Amino acid sequence: MQPILVNPCSYKSLETVLDTIVAKTEKQWVAIGCDGLPFSLCSKMIENYFICPHCNESFTKKVQFINHINQENLDIEIENCKKYKNILLIPGMGHIDINNTKALFKLMWQPCIKDLAILLGWKSPKALTSCEHCTDHHKATQILDILFESLTSELLKIFVKHCHEKKQQPDIINLYAFAKKQPKQYQFLFKCTFTYLLAWKLLKKGMRRGNFHFMKMSMDKLSGLYYGLNMTTYMDLWFRFEKMMARAPEDVRSFLEHNMCMSQSGHPSKAEGGDFILESTNKKIKSFMPYGVPTDERWTRVCNNIEHIEQVSLKIF
Ligand SMILES: [Zn+2]
Repeated sequence: MQPILVNPCSYKSLETVLDTIVAKTEKQWVAIGCDGLPFSLCSKMIENYFICPHCNESFTKKVQFINHINQENLDIEIENCKKYKNILLIPGMGHIDINNTKALFKLMWQPCIKDLAILLGWKSPKALTSCEHCTDHHKATQILDILFESLTSELLKIFVKHCHEKKQQPDIINLYAFAKKQPKQYQFLFKCTFTYLLAWKLLKKGMRRGNFHFMKMSMDKLSGLYYGLNMTTYMDLWFRFEKMMARAPEDVRSFLEHNMCMSQSGHPSKAEGGDFILESTNKKIKSFMPYGVPTDERWTRVCNNIEHIEQVSLKIF
């Protein structure tokens, strides 16, 4: 394992990353896992970087390349000249989950989460601000779980009581018909619970089981929140990913669907996004380094030897 020592937040450094990965692989398609900002930047590079097959000159804007072809009077297929045309970007599902959780907190903080947080012990203004911004993802997840359970009971209790009085069947069709006739506040909470929170829970289940259909179905519901709450990075990310999946050949799409989430241990219910797998590997690497900011040289040395170091430490401890 050889790290590429650049910060992937600019076109220049991402070019280095993509060039290094492409140079090392001899496959028709190269799948690369990417999070929020690097994903958007890489997608734009895939669309806009061209190399002229005649003079080998590179271009970073589509317009420049088209002008160049016209000037030189070349008859070539533009799509085939894309520098990174074989790269497939896979978004990190772990980060998508974090951002979905943040989106739900944004949507429901004032109406109900704030009161719940106070009940659960986040009392001081500082604690509440930290809770509102989901600084602890695991605690935020627990809060949403509690919220889902309690809202479900509260909302259904009113419905079941109504059915009892009207001698109606408490089924799903009647539930939706009933919800439509309720005050706005009920309708809002109903949508939050049975559209967004339910989709949020199913997304997690889908990720754990590596079930793409669950993930896709949930994201169809949740990705609308990115637009309503103006989360531009993830708006862009999910739209580009869906577009890529829609255009991918059948076998490539199937490969991506099966590799969105993977299980490190091999256990079928312990799958997670590639980004989280990388984070746990990073943590492991850091555990073999002395305290303080690691130098590039030390970082490279540990990455290159991590497998041996692990074997040695397993034998000793
Ligand atoms: Zn040329």
